Amino acid sequence: MRVITSKTEMKAFARQTRAAGRSLGLVPTMGALHEGHLSLVRLAKRQCDTVVASIFVNPAQFGPHEDFSRYPRNQEKDLQLLSQFNLDAIFTPSTDELYPEGFQTYLDPGELAAGFEGKSRPGHFRGVATVVLKLFNIVTPDLAYFGQKDFQQVQVIRRMVEDLDLDVRLVVCPTVRDADGLAISSRNLYLSAAERKAALALPHSLRRAQELVHTGEMATRKILAEVNKVLAAEPQVAVDYLMIVEPRTLQPVERVSLGCVALIAARVGPTRLIDNLILGSPSASPEQLLQGALSAVIQTDTCTRLPGLETEILRQRVENCRDCAAIPSIVLPPRQFLAEYLKTHYPDLNVVEVAVIGQDSPLQHSENSFYSDPTRPTLFAADVLQLLGLKDFQEFKARFVLTDAIRCHSSHIHVPEKALENCARHLEAELKLFPNLKTIVVLGEDAYHQFQRLLGKPASAQIVPFSEKIGEKGWACEEVDISWLGGRRLRVFYCYHPTLGYLRSPSIGPMLTPDPMGESRGNR
Ligand code: AMP
Repeated sequence: MRVITSKTEMKAFARQTRAAGRSLGLVPTMGALHEGHLSLVRLAKRQCDTVVASIFVNPAQFGPHEDFSRYPRNQEKDLQLLSQFNLDAIFTPSTDELYPEGFQTYLDPGELAAGFEGKSRPGHFRGVATVVLKLFNIVTPDLAYFGQKDFQQVQVIRRMVEDLDLDVRLVVCPTVRDADGLAISSRNLYLSAAERKAALALPHSLRRAQELVHTGEMATRKILAEVNKVLAAEPQVAVDYLMIVEPRTLQPVERVSLGCVALIAARVGPTRLIDNLILGSPSASPEQLLQGALSAVIQTDTCTRLPGLETEILRQRVENCRDCAAIPSIVLPPRQFLAEYLKTHYPDLNVVEVAVIGQDSPLQHSENSFYSDPTRPTLFAADVLQLLGLKDFQEFKARFVLTDAIRCHSSHIHVPEKALENCARHLEAELKLFPNLKTIVVLGEDAYHQFQRLLGKPASAQIVPFSEKIGEKGWACEEVDISWLGGRRLRVFYCYHPTLGYLRSPSIGPMLTPDPMGESRGNR
């Protein structure tokens, strides 16, 4: 393992490597190496023919009152740790080698470097960007390895690479944590035993944010309020910032979407620690989460409700519903609706004003091809459109959504009560995806009972028989305050199921025309 201290020698080494046609990977570090650094080295070894690690405590990225002089340095131990990887070279320049007398040119990163670490540590990213550019120029790597642990740093460097047309690919590795969850950092060495314990409030708070998102809470304000409670319970922790941001711009978001990142910095005693967590689906691996954050599409229209993380989390909840799994007769929840059809047909969930709830509606194995193949005419589709007074599927999906009262289909005619309750819970969560829902159309007797008993939650426990409710008119309408929509009043229509039985409801289309004022008719 060659230890190189001079720029000239490092450049010559890089030239030879390139001349031999070997790919070159660089892992820049400030030493005091730990498992986090080693994870970068390990990946670099797998991906590159030649790997160079650099160890340089960069004075330019420390503020005048920061810990530059006492930052942990132990080159002997670092070299020993790296020896297991059989690296091609370790670049350990002195400060004078990288910043000789008269040095005065610094790189000025832009807006991405202004907030968070940049705000709390003025000049920090100027120093980081300058030294990383210098290292890129000296080592000329094909690939350079960075840790998610310093998420803002990754984005600042990524921007620099793009803006300055640098010929290097960045590889980002997930944060490595100790067994108790604390993100590993060279600065953890400063912590006393008590502080080390208190520092766990950081990962705990991030995990709380993740838990909330996984239960479907997407409002940043509510998530942060809960997370702050976790932090407030630990008096030794003084929060510097805590924010949920859009991953590419680092702008705070009001609602969480796939790849958003919770960023935190806090002082634990005198030691300043940072951590972050990428929010995504519960089943995503750390690498997938990173991919999600690094490739996240910026949503410029903040009013649009894209089916995304929220839909995906709900889909997994329905699929993994343990209560349903415990009921042997349950065959399959209608996963396609959440997994595919919403994404395909509803790029903006805001458009949905009317939810049509009819048994068997979006089931893959049923006759119904309403969503899977909307061009194929079926009896069910034709009858539903007629009932709603619509011309075709295009008109339908502009304002309507079709879903199912029974989420968990049973192989028996009788669906167990427990399953029905689960179905109702899942349907509630599903309907909450549509913020502008004003009307519900309930198709058929089974859906009527399910709605009356478990969803509408009427004041009287007595449920009027379906035929009586429908009466001679062939349909009924009532206004219902829906508790699971925060008490919002919706209009609910009850109709015969178009393809079941012989009785038909007349078209309710005239009563479903769009409200020109955009107000809920239920309030009239
Ligand atoms: P540092 O020595 O602190 O400048 O870190 C060198 C590189 O290792 C940076 O790209 C860091 O983001 C990365 N790194 C530091 N700690 C961790 C960690 N716990 N997990 C993954 N990467 C890390």
